[in-house]
Amino acid sequence: MSDIRISIVVPCFNESEVIGNFHRALTAALEQTGERYEICYVDDGSRDGTLEQVRAFAASEPWVRYTSFSRNFGKEAAMLAGLRMSLGATVVLMDADLQHPPGLLPRMLELHRHGYDQVIAQRDRTGEGALRTAVSRTYYRLVHHFMDMALVDGAGDFRLLSRRAVDALLLLPESNRFSKGLFCWIGFDTVSFTYRNAPRAGGRSKWGGRRLLEYGIDGLMSFNSRPLRLAIHAGLSLFLSALGYALWIAGSAALNGVDTPGYATLIAVIVALSGIQLATLGVVGEYVGRIYHESKRRPHYLVRETDDTLETAAASLPVTVAATRSG
Ligand code: UDP
Ligand code: MG
Repeated sequence: MSDIRISIVVPCFNESEVIGNFHRALTAALEQTGERYEICYVDDGSRDGTLEQVRAFAASEPWVRYTSFSRNFGKEAAMLAGLRMSLGATVVLMDADLQHPPGLLPRMLELHRHGYDQVIAQRDRTGEGALRTAVSRTYYRLVHHFMDMALVDGAGDFRLLSRRAVDALLLLPESNRFSKGLFCWIGFDTVSFTYRNAPRAGGRSKWGGRRLLEYGIDGLMSFNSRPLRLAIHAGLSLFLSALGYALWIAGSAALNGVDTPGYATLIAVIVALSGIQLATLGVVGEYVGRIYHESKRRPHYLVRETDDTLETAAASLPVTVAATRSG
């Protein structure tokens, strides 16, 4: 294990507008802590000069290292690469757009010193669009019902992890990574505090409505099989009500003589049933798709260039070996 105390992992995708300011603010905050630190930038296939800037930081500051992907693999993959690169006793995951204020680092470190393995900086929803806030709220309520993991609104990726928490995360080999769920899954002592949400310092958010929706579905599906269970419940209750209805028809036929029921009920029942069957098939299909995806065992990302010698070696190793490599 190296004597680095803090590793900062920063996934960046097309952040050339803000990364300079971010780097200065981060370095200033880290200097104040008086601890030995390193900064691991992961360029997620940017095409706007982010890589050049990161490369320049790494060339002039020995505590900065970077990895660049061959294309955009998504933030989850970038965070994984950063965690694999990190050597510090604690790791802090941060966005490059200054929405995760570096000024909060001392507070996070302080809480870690009290023995917490995960320190979550949880943002409130100040300054966010009313629609997005409403949708997120509903989503978290839904997730609360359907998921075995307790996700917290606003508790995102801005968090400090102890080395053992990072090692635990690296043991999870799935390719469909939903970090919010993984962080919950590993457990350990967790504490959180709230900070005021800040708008992006520059550039644009990569999360449009559609991408958020996909992410939301991912979250619901990747953590449990409750949607499948739900399909079974729906099927059973429909079967029971159909049975009741059939008995009722049979009874009334016996008592009042045979009566021809209308087409309307018949069609309504057929349509309702086929709808439910299709939806159920969709849910099952989604899980089969995930199994297919996982069974290919492709690497999470491909590295185009890096100044991290360990990373180049690890990229060619099987997942479990690469995942347990640290320090
Ligand atoms: N990011 C990334 N790969 C992507 C999308 C985003 O590495 O495909 C990074 C991005 O550069 C930023 C962080 O993830 O550092 C959060 O992205 P963003 O600010 O767009 O998300 P938001 O804050 O709007 O949720
Ligand atoms: Mg952001």
